[in-house]
Amino acid sequence: MPLLADLARCRGCLGSLGTGAVAGLCARCWSLLVPLPEERCPLCAQPHGGGEACADPVAWAWGDALWDYHAGLGPLLVPGIKRGELGWLRALLGRAEGASLPPWAGGYDLVCPVPTSGLRRWWRGFDLAEQAAELVARRLGIAFRRVLRKPLLARAQTGLPRSQRQRMGAQVTLRAGQGVRGAAVLVVDDVWTTGTTFLRCAGALDREGAREVAVLALFRAGRRSG
Ligand SMILES: [Zn+2]
Ligand SMILES: [Zn+2]
Repeated sequence: MPLLADLARCRGCLGSLGTGAVAGLCARCWSLLVPLPEERCPLCAQPHGGGEACADPVAWAWGDALWDYHAGLGPLLVPGIKRGELGWLRALLGRAEGASLPPWAGGYDLVCPVPTSGLRRWWRGFDLAEQAAELVARRLGIAFRRVLRKPLLARAQTGLPRSQRQRMGAQVTLRAGQGVRGAAVLVVDDVWTTGTTFLRCAGALDREGAREVAVLALFRAGRRSG
């Protein structure tokens, strides 16, 4: 008589789960956490020629990510985790424990997560960027601090032109009592797409006198791999 586990299907590929399955995904699917191409730009983490400018603006000393979003499990895992797939969250963080971190990352004074609005965080019960940042800080032996904040709602926005609303909504600021003057700060996010969020964070840190900023994401979703 077959075991129930033998009949269960992988939620990624719909094949049989087999040995090594974790949180409803088979070992083959989990192996699809694909590193970025070796030949990538040290600023935008995208593969482009050394003489070519980055496709999107960058404002940091170093930028990298652990995995390629579109080449692998990203489009399944990340939305699933944000819907509350805690098994996937734990498994992904487990993989992040073993993934290689960029060699420059150890040179920073503190690690801070890209801020999520408090409402969204409350609704989900956790925040993937923050969990990733805590993990990176622990692995590097560097302080973890939530230095940045994103306003819950910008009250005065109604009635303003759309472009102005977007600018206001884009605000990222330092939390009260969180000085970064002279500090080298590593900002961590879950998915890096255009880099707009990182730009806002780097801008806020620069304004407050941070000495250097670098960015690191779990996944890089690039134009080229889209
Ligand atoms: Zn599978
Ligand atoms: Zn680049």
